[in-house]
Amino acid sequence: MASKKSDNRSELFAKYPNLYDKISNSDMDACMAFSEEYKAFLDKSKTEREFTDNGIEAAESLGFKDIESKKKLKAGDKVYSSIKGKGLILAVIGKKGVKEGFNILGAHIDSPRLDLKPNPVFEDNETVYFKTHYYGGIKKYQWTTIPLAIHGVVYTKDKVMHKISIGEDESDPIFYITDLLPHLGSDQMKKSASEFIPAEDLNVVVGGIPFNGKNEDKSKEPYKEAILRFLNEKYGIVEKDFVTGELEVVPAVKARDVGFDRAFIAGYGHDDRVCAYPALMAILEQEKPEKTCVTMLTDKEEIGSYANSGAQSALYENFLMEIVAKTGDGSLDMLQFRKVIAASKMLSTDVSAAYDPKYASVYEKRNSAFMSHGIKLEKYTGARGKSGTSEATGDFVAEITSVFAKNNIPWQTGELGRVDAGGGGTISAFMAKYGMSVIDAGVPVWSMHAPYEVISKIDLYYTYLAYKAFIENI
Ligand code: MN
Ligand code: MN
Repeated sequence: MASKKSDNRSELFAKYPNLYDKISNSDMDACMAFSEEYKAFLDKSKTEREFTDNGIEAAESLGFKDIESKKKLKAGDKVYSSIKGKGLILAVIGKKGVKEGFNILGAHIDSPRLDLKPNPVFEDNETVYFKTHYYGGIKKYQWTTIPLAIHGVVYTKDKVMHKISIGEDESDPIFYITDLLPHLGSDQMKKSASEFIPAEDLNVVVGGIPFNGKNEDKSKEPYKEAILRFLNEKYGIVEKDFVTGELEVVPAVKARDVGFDRAFIAGYGHDDRVCAYPALMAILEQEKPEKTCVTMLTDKEEIGSYANSGAQSALYENFLMEIVAKTGDGSLDMLQFRKVIAASKMLSTDVSAAYDPKYASVYEKRNSAFMSHGIKLEKYTGARGKSGTSEATGDFVAEITSVFAKNNIPWQTGELGRVDAGGGGTISAFMAKYGMSVIDAGVPVWSMHAPYEVISKIDLYYTYLAYKAFIENI
């Protein structure tokens, strides 16, 4: 069948305008209000564990229950499951049950950072340091000379979890990685940026006052001992307990507005919490959707989605199986389950690079996402000849753009950057292998993977509306 001819020039040509240029006053107010809520959530969710805890707290306050506590599920029921405390999956059961598949939003809640090594504490020239191992793709030099905080958990041998969060409160100390003064940096400055701060130099300063300053009690490492004693007193841990540690060194910065007009937000971990937050909000607002809606917030995406909390973990799949079983007679037919998954539709809600005119040479302008032009639909990611990509099918792209059109959701498209300039991937490939329809759709970011990244408020707001429109209407 031939589609309708278009005599309208504005329809004939593709245009992806700046959304601040045409936003209504009421949408602008809603956009600014949503941004404030996002910044507050980001500031208290600097690790995957904190995001999970805060997500569960928000969900429970709206009536979500741990799926374990439910024997049967019916339309309107709201359930969640914590994935090892580092990932979260939530669902609201739809009127149509599950036969037609799930509508899924999938983001990740881990971000690039420095993890403490299992044996991190050492003393060198009267200073105490923590050794770190970087997590995810970082430019190592960006992590020196900025205020750092330490967040995470340590277990003592009695298996008690001790939470640590230090460096965020105004009265807290912060931690710090030194760099060389320019006066003595002429050799350093000749090295390439990937070499001049070696990974093993990412040592965090954590102390400098010795135990028993008067030296009556002879300690071989008085500075280290002082810190170990402090940690023991405050958290009840000893040096060996660090082996259990999931301690993350993150920037001790709060999310702040950028620009006189406050168009943008700078923050740590926009990748991918700027998609995870609206994906969480979209599911929390569902009461009795048509189809069963799911938001999955995964861990370990930055290092390949492995481990029992990454998107490749069967725990996410188990939750969906449990829904299929508990909305039926309690049993699970594997073929039926596979068919439900194959009928499911998913937005892989991850960020992408925003065109940066400073670095124009790595972008192809006709196929780039621009700040403030809305959610970016990315038909494929990958590297070189589309290696590693999960390419969405054309009919699925059409289905989404038609839902967006009906709900007045502006969107843009593009690739990550120029072909052969580099590349990247998301969790979409792991879902597509089950036959699920999946496409990447998220917020464009400047300075992605830097300690302090930038997004546009209007992209965040329309992304949230896009996620809602998707799970309610697809
Ligand atoms: Mn990401
Ligand atoms: Mn990333």
